Amino acid sequence: MKRKRPARYTLLLAKSGGGSRAWNLPGWALLALLGGLLLWSGANLYLWHRAREVRALEARLHALSQEARRLSLALEAERAKNGALSREAERTRKELEALKKAIDELRRRAGLSPINATPVRYQEGAQGGGAMAAWTEVEAALLDLKNQLAEVTPALERTLEIEESLPLGLPLRGYQGVTSPFGVRKNPFGPGWEFHDGLDFSAPYGAPVFATGSGVVARVGWMGAYGLAVLLDHAQGYQTLYGHLSRAAVRPGQRVERGQLLGYVGSTGRSTGPHLHYSIYRRGVAVDPRSYLASR
Ligand SMILES: [Zn+2]
Repeated sequence: MKRKRPARYTLLLAKSGGGSRAWNLPGWALLALLGGLLLWSGANLYLWHRAREVRALEARLHALSQEARRLSLALEAERAKNGALSREAERTRKELEALKKAIDELRRRAGLSPINATPVRYQEGAQGGGAMAAWTEVEAALLDLKNQLAEVTPALERTLEIEESLPLGLPLRGYQGVTSPFGVRKNPFGPGWEFHDGLDFSAPYGAPVFATGSGVVARVGWMGAYGLAVLLDHAQGYQTLYGHLSRAAVRPGQRVERGQLLGYVGSTGRSTGPHLHYSIYRRGVAVDPRSYLASR
């Protein structure tokens, strides 16, 4: 049996312009050479492709990170804005609550019922427009309180007018003592007891006497035992009397304010020395002025 000789190949490398090199190679060597070349170029191609892929990925990653950074900055700015708005809303809400308390107190003084409006609500930590919602509520509450204030003002003005008109405090800047209290006392001019319908303040002759509340001068002149006296009409059926004056500084019908000069201390009428007799009448009945002195 004749064995076939393996084929051999000649690899010829011809140099341009003459000269050549030739390799005599067996088939398997040629195949190995070709296979190696193919693998090498394939690997190169793969690596080149991979590199390109990596560069593309890197570029995409970079773009994404840029986008993320932009978004995070925007979010941060939005959050800061939202936070500032929340804080502003919270601060305003506190102011509104203080205002509501103040208005409630004014309503109480004006003799009105307390506000029944819903309290100022604020959704703490609410997401997405929570601050805006809180802000809207604050604005609504503000409008509500403005209306409440508009309602309370005239009633309060009446109250303040009455308060200003009530006889409160001292009719003198100072006094040396109360020489005779309100009530039943021993008659200083003779035997027996009498009802003393006011307070006697010991004060120097000529000391100024002041109105203890605003009102209208009802009478000025001689009033029996009170000597030269001034009688004032106030609101709520109140009257005040200032007696034993040396001189009066007001005329009947004149409007006087609290603290206004009425006259000067004297000893006219039934008096043993310079002093001021001070009476307060409520609907014609004498009341103890002592409880009105410390009110101011
Ligand atoms: Zn008296």
